Amino acid sequence: MAGDGVTRAFVTGISGQDGTILAGVLAAEGVEVHGLVRSAEEADSHRQHLPAGVVLHEGELTDRARIAELVDAVSPDEIYNLAGISSVAYSWEHPALTGEVSGLAPVGVFEAAARLQERTGRTVRVLQASSAEIFGRPERSPQDEGTPIRPISPYGAAKAYAHQMAGIFRDRGLHVATCILYNHESPLRPTTFVTRKITAAAARIALEGGGVLTLGSTDVRRDWGWAPDYVDAMTRALRHPTADDFVVATGRTHSVAEFVEAAMVHAGVTDWESHVETDQAFVRPADAAEQSGDATKARELLGWVPTVSFEELVGRMVDHDVALLRDAR
Ligand code: NAP
Repeated sequence: MAGDGVTRAFVTGISGQDGTILAGVLAAEGVEVHGLVRSAEEADSHRQHLPAGVVLHEGELTDRARIAELVDAVSPDEIYNLAGISSVAYSWEHPALTGEVSGLAPVGVFEAAARLQERTGRTVRVLQASSAEIFGRPERSPQDEGTPIRPISPYGAAKAYAHQMAGIFRDRGLHVATCILYNHESPLRPTTFVTRKITAAAARIALEGGGVLTLGSTDVRRDWGWAPDYVDAMTRALRHPTADDFVVATGRTHSVAEFVEAAMVHAGVTDWESHVETDQAFVRPADAAEQSGDATKARELLGWVPTVSFEELVGRMVDHDVALLRDAR
């Protein structure tokens, strides 16, 4: 804890899905929350989604000097590195940028934390948001912390580098934990992600009585969880006495087609199959057929359990999108 008795946290990616949820959790605990945003305009547009009192700082994650300056000035006890390019699809279009932002830039955060720790003699805890995509096309299912790291996308490769560098800094004395996060969703997901695209379309088709949802492969199976549960795992992992890697997943998988069916049925669209088309343009160049995580270690060491089922999760997202459309009318 900082000298003034208040726990201070620095959250990168505070404007994203997880960062927004995390800021609320930390502020409710009485933690002094500082967040990184890319511009003043962005700060203004996000302030309304964040609890009062959150201090926003402008900066690019890739600007190592700025990150070092901010970490030094804020002097946090806890650093949550959630910023990054979080879309696999986007990473295929911008592979080098993805490497810089989601691979190399986290190392700048670890460096800054290690320097602060050295300077103050105080433990600085870091949480790195790793991803199931580091496993690529895994040979065994479910995956756990010992599954070989063999990414198959620019996003996965960038995340794998940051994940391995977290381990290297840990070996050198920095308290850096990682959560190997499987897909987690909420109404805060942008519609560029397949889950929110589906729930927004289900709401639209239900309310307007027509329309088409166009998707890539609907056979791929993913382990989808509720984002606030995954944010809960992050704080538990960061505060666990031993910094370590933790798979965060439900262990249950569903196909994209099952997600579509659950969303459409929840929205009240019974003839949903006639509203769904597939287009090869949305199929990724390389993709895992199934991702399923074994969170036994998180359950046993962190006491973490997912609290929201797949059906509830889909229902909550659809309800949110239906309400949004109704309000807009
Ligand atoms: P998100 O909603 O896409 O948020 C990403 C955040 O990173 C945004 O605040 C974004 O700011 C910020 N950002 C991007 N590039 C930046 C840069 N160059 N400098 C500073 N900030 C930058 O992602 P999320 O769903 O909350 O995920 C949080 C973390 O968990 C990410 O690292 C993601 O890769 C990882 N993860 C997520 C999932 C998942 O299912 N959600 C699964 C596995 C791992 P702007 O608002 O300016 O774009």
